[in-house]
Amino acid sequence: MIETIQKHRQDFDSRICSTSVAEPLKQLRIDFLGKKGCVQALMKELRQASPEEKRQQGKLINDFKQYVENQLKDKEEELGKSPKGRPSTGATFDTTLPGRREIPGTLHPVTQVMEEIKSIFLGLGFQVEEGPEIETDYYNFEALNIPKDHPARDMQDTFYVDGEAVLRTHTSPVQIHVMEDREPPLRIIAPGKVYRCDSDVSHTPMFHQIEGLMVDENVSFSHLKGIMSIFLQEVFGKNTKVRFRPSFFPFTCPSAEVDIQCVICSGKGCRVCSQTGWVEILGAGMVDPAVFKFVDYDAEKWTGFAFGLGIERISMLKYGINDIRLFFENDLRFLKQF
Ligand SMILES: [Zn+2]
Repeated sequence: MIETIQKHRQDFDSRICSTSVAEPLKQLRIDFLGKKGCVQALMKELRQASPEEKRQQGKLINDFKQYVENQLKDKEEELGKSPKGRPSTGATFDTTLPGRREIPGTLHPVTQVMEEIKSIFLGLGFQVEEGPEIETDYYNFEALNIPKDHPARDMQDTFYVDGEAVLRTHTSPVQIHVMEDREPPLRIIAPGKVYRCDSDVSHTPMFHQIEGLMVDENVSFSHLKGIMSIFLQEVFGKNTKVRFRPSFFPFTCPSAEVDIQCVICSGKGCRVCSQTGWVEILGAGMVDPAVFKFVDYDAEKWTGFAFGLGIERISMLKYGINDIRLFFENDLRFLKQF
């Protein structure tokens, strides 16, 4: 009898050790404590024993029964703690380990430069205006003195939405909207996205521009030079040299390309500035009287200047970035540097 109980106990021990799911545990209870279980079988056997044996062996059987009950109870509790009776791996959590930190987001470098430029112009008394990104041909071209078949349309590779609607190729249409709505004096900037069918190391199909417009009595080219110089020296540093080169835009006359001394080589000549020591940074000019005609402004009374600049271009020069596409690849290794 003693040997039988020992055998049952070994059997029970090995089965409960390998049990890690609630279902087989139930079976274990049935097999050992159930009506046809091995404890009952031992009791049956005991009936044929002598009174002396009954006393001794009965105690052994009871101890074994108690042992099985305790073990099953402990195991049930252990399984109840691990969710859905999934096997407990035995691994414990190290509560002294540092937590995983959320990495806070930051503003995109293009947004940062845009905000910086906005705040410079707000300081100069300009207001921020916005306009639609889908424009009619009239606002994007015609009212800016670029009639159909004008060769200047070839300067900008346009996305046409349909015959009359385009994705704006520049932020200049905002000028027209504002001048239609308001009388001078005006001092506005219009930041936003623009679209051109173009893609290489220095062009992307979507990029950001800021348009500027000032209209008042007696606004002259000197005002334009003054404001552009202040602005560029705020962005690139007090000692930045600025120069104006004659150029052509259909909506300004006279027009100028504005250059700054190369920030990479300080004017000595490098690959970025094609050994010239200067880099082109924006286009500007005095508002063409033909544009004033489209918005019913008296060109005899009012004069103004306008300018447009690419935010990505300024960001690239400011931070020494050589490929515009890096801005739009969303690579955290790049974005974390700003
Ligand atoms: Zn250079």
